[in-house]
Formats: sequence, structure tokens, C-alpha cells
Amino acid sequence: MTPHGIPGSRENTLTDLGGLSVLVAEDHDFQRQMLVQALRSLRVGLISEARDGMEALDHLKRPDTRTDITICDLDMPNMDGMELIRRISETGTRSSLILTSALDRTLIATVGTMARDYGIRLLGAIEKPVTPQKLQTLIAQHLSIPQVLEEPRGPRLSSDEILAAIEEERFEAFFQPKVDLHTGLLVGAEALARMRHPQRGIVGPSEFIGLLEEHGLIDRLTWIILRQASSACADWLRNGLEITVSVNLSLKSLHDPTLADQVTQIVRTSGLDTVHVVLEITESAAMADVGHALENLARLRMKGFGLSIDDFGTGYASLQQLARAPFTELKIDRSFVANASQNPRRNVMLESSNELARRLGLKSVAEGVETRSDWDHLREIDCSVAQGYFIAKPMPAADFLGWARTWRPPSPKP
Ligand code: C2E
Ligand code: CA
Ligand code: CA
Repeated sequence: MTPHGIPGSRENTLTDLGGLSVLVAEDHDFQRQMLVQALRSLRVGLISEARDGMEALDHLKRPDTRTDITICDLDMPNMDGMELIRRISETGTRSSLILTSALDRTLIATVGTMARDYGIRLLGAIEKPVTPQKLQTLIAQHLSIPQVLEEPRGPRLSSDEILAAIEEERFEAFFQPKVDLHTGLLVGAEALARMRHPQRGIVGPSEFIGLLEEHGLIDRLTWIILRQASSACADWLRNGLEITVSVNLSLKSLHDPTLADQVTQIVRTSGLDTVHVVLEITESAAMADVGHALENLARLRMKGFGLSIDDFGTGYASLQQLARAPFTELKIDRSFVANASQNPRRNVMLESSNELARRLGLKSVAEGVETRSDWDHLREIDCSVAQGYFIAKPMPAADFLGWARTWRPPSPKP
């Protein structure tokens, strides 16, 4: 393992990559050197090398290193790229990934989805020979990812820490605006859970949702967030802001036949009518207990709640689920939204999901709207609602009314 600091002038570079740390995992010496050369010519600040998956993992696990991007071949001896991706995710690092394998697009998409499920962002695949230009395009994608939450410092949270946070109700709902793409008006907000950690500050849901689900405690979080979301929405209505609030519901909760009554009671206790609440449920093949889930969904819909199918397009049984459950809204996953106009395959997914929503009479919500061009494109394809950093990042409840008062939609394209 040899990290090199790259000295030299930074003139003539489009983007300054001096702060970037890249790990090259490649078993062929020659290929690895080619990659290192290409990265040097882009003036990447820190380049580290690994001859195989084990070396790469050892590097990623070192507490004193931070790796922004890992470049690896899917086909390596001892540990192939797929296993490496899974094990990288287990180290808890947030490294993005570039594959250097000649793969067809469907296979790249499969590996991309797999990586994403493991919490790793696949920037793309490039065929050898790797040139600085090819690398630069993918690195630019990494740099365009806004960092919402602090990089996790130190090891992942322990179960005990998460259990203590539940006991002490140290969770807070942040709210991200949803805006009508045609009128530009604010129409809703999604509640997103954050945990307050004594040392680490604000911690994002990727660190605790899975653990809470495993411990059968996800409902406790749902009640905390639902209570905060309902009282925030009641407050907005009192202040003249006629909008809905969306709350994420774990699929696991749908097994409990008393769920609908409990949800209704919490919302009404806050003085809010159920029609102001949308429940977002992620589609998943894991919906084994279909009977209970449908019973709950039907009851919730009867009570007036909106029902949204979340992360649409990433799951397995999209169409079957849509056909049998009383959804009112379809949220197109952000992996199909960001930069879709520049990416034909992404755009096929975006446009067909949007069309499907339209034909089924569902509201289509695009999440992950990051740029003006994403916004313009969504207006062109007649999507209903947008949510994403281009409009605003999730914010504490206390900031929401102030933000809403200053919100102005972008002026239409000339
Ligand atoms: P989600 O429901 O798909 O929520 C949207 C996620 O996308 C949020 O991440 C949000 O911060 C992020 N996001 C919003 N706009 C953009 C954008 O323009 N670009 C990018 N790259 N990301 C954007 P967050 O808050 O980290 O939440 C992650 C997931 O955790 C959520 O995904 C949801 O599935 C789950 N989650 C959050 N809160 C709760 C909760 O109270 N209960 C349950 N069961 N799950 C929750
Ligand atoms: Ca959601
Ligand atoms: Ca989503």
C-alpha cells in the first residue's frame, strides 16, 4: 500500500482535485500504474494503491484514512468486486465507487443497485484503457453529490446507543419542502428522522433505521416522528400554510393490525385532520405478509390518509403492488431523477414512471431534484411535484415557516 501526495501546480485544472482521496484496487501491476498515472495527471491529492480486495479493505478500515472514491475491477482474485463492495459497506465508509470492467449496461445497473442497497454510490464503469478524461467525468459526478450530513466519525452507532436514544426520545424530524412543478407553490413537506448524538451531533437515518427494524423498535421511532410531524403541520395550517406532511412508514409496521388506529389517534391528538398526512412506504419484495399490509393500507386510506409508494423503480414488485394497494402518490426514486436529461437510460425510467403515475391517476413526485436543469426537465415531462436540494435541504421544524415565507420558484425558462 503506497499513498503518494501529489505536489505541483494546480493551474489549468477545471476542478481542483487536490482535496480528493482515491484508492485504486487492481491486481494487474500495469493496469494499476495506468490508473495511478491518470489520477496523477488530474492532480488528485491522495492516491493509494491496493493489489487485491483484502489490501483495499485493510486500507479502508484504517481509522486515520478517509477515502472518497474507490476504483476497482469486478474481476479480482481472492475477493471479487461484488464481495468487495459488500465488505466496503460493512466498514461504514462512505467511499463512492468506480468500476473498471468492460460490462454491459444491464450488469452495471445490477451492480449499481446492489451497491446502492449496501449504501455505496456507484459513479459508473469505465472500460480499460482508462484515460484521465473518462475518470474526470465520473469524479465530477462524485463532486456533485452534496454532503447533507456529516461524514460518520468513528465507528457506526452501537445498538445500545440507539436504544438509549429511543428511550430518551433523542430523535428529531427535519422537514424537506415539496413544491408543485407547475404553480411553483409549496404543497407539502417530508419528515425525515435525525438522531441527536452527544458526541457526533446530528446523525442521519442510514445509521439507525436498519438497527431499529432489527430490534423491533421501528414503531417507537414512527410514533416520535409522526407526533412531531403532525404538530408541525397543525402549526403551519394555523399560520395559513395549507400543506400536507409526509411521514415514512416502515414496511415492518404494516404487519401490526392495530397500526391504522394508532396512527390515526396520534394525528388527531395533534389537532390535525388525516387528510393532511401522507404516509410513504417503500416498495419491497419483502412484503411477505401481504394480507396484513393490505388491510392496514386500505384502512389508512379509508381514514383519509394519502399513501405514497416511495423509491419507485428500485424495488422488485412495483406493478403488482400498485395494482393491489390504494396508493395516491408515486415517488420516483432519486437515482432516476438527478441529471436524467443527460442520461438516456435514467430518463427512460423517469419518463415511464411518470407516465405510469399519470395513467393510474396518481400524483408523481420526483425526489432528488438537485439542479435547475432537473427542475426544467421535470416540468417538460409534466411531473407533478418536486423535492430535492435544488429547492431546499431538510431543515429543523423551527426554520420551516421562515423558509416558506421566502420561497420563490425559479422564473420560467426564457
Ligand atoms: P427517503 O424516504 O427516500 O428520503 C429522501 C432522502 O433523500 C432523504 O435522506 C433526503 O435527505 C435525501 N434527499 C433529499 N433531496 C435530495 C437531493 O436532492 N439529492 C440527494 N442526493 N438526496 C436528497 P435521509 O434523510 O438521509 O433519509 C434516508 C432514508 O431514511 C429515507 O429515504 C427513508 O427511507 C428513511 N427514513 C428517514 N426518516 C425515516 C423515518 O422517520 N422512518 C422510517 N421508517 N424511515 C425513515
Ligand atoms: Ca420517503
Ligand atoms: Ca424516497
